[in-house]
Amino acid sequence: MSEEVVKGLKVVDAFDLDDELRTILRPGEMVRDEHGRRHRLPRYFYEIESHEAAVATKLTPHFGLNEFVLTDLKEAPRLHQYPRYVPCAVRLLAFYLQQFRAAAGGSVHIAVNGAYRSPAHKLATNATSHMWGTAADIYRIGSNILKTKEQIEKYNVMAEDLSEDVSVHPYGHVTGKDADDHVHLDLGFILLIPREISEDRMEQPQESRPRFAFEERRRTDRRDQVVPFPETATKSD
Ligand SMILES: [Zn+2]
Repeated sequence: MSEEVVKGLKVVDAFDLDDELRTILRPGEMVRDEHGRRHRLPRYFYEIESHEAAVATKLTPHFGLNEFVLTDLKEAPRLHQYPRYVPCAVRLLAFYLQQFRAAAGGSVHIAVNGAYRSPAHKLATNATSHMWGTAADIYRIGSNILKTKEQIEKYNVMAEDLSEDVSVHPYGHVTGKDADDHVHLDLGFILLIPREISEDRMEQPQESRPRFAFEERRRTDRRDQVVPFPETATKSD
């Protein structure tokens, strides 16, 4: 097991990343959504060292970190390389997708580039939750490829029923507003700061002491600590 997996996910302050990455990720900058409302971009990111680490890191029982960082050619070239970066709020997205999977009764397939998209992505004009790592585009559930109004509306209702936190794009043909070939599951503009990071008011690169922390493993740690029930003789009824 690699040291990284043992330590848990690495959280970085994006102000301390190199110039190129800061230009791509734009930590703390304000962007406007389609309604002209302003939203602050994420500052704290998980840094993922390798494809192997991404695959090995399960955010929930059925969602690996690798599913949230699949990039397409419209994404900034630097983000096709490791280490990769994804806003920490992706953990919440994974949680809701796990609930959605249970409600839908089938595996939920996140599209390539269907989760995190940086503000440098070629299709990024207005702020969308994808830039916060809090939206997922789902084109297939189990063996169903979503393409009919009936299917999409059925799963949209299922997603909205999970929580008031969840919104979807209604069925329709206007890209970015509606969806006619996928479910866009959206938690809004959530900024998540893991408890292990120490926040700093300074929005300046700290090259001498980059700000980062390792998250403690949560679920796995708890699971390891579970005291097994004492062995008892099982009855065969
Ligand atoms: Zn979307």
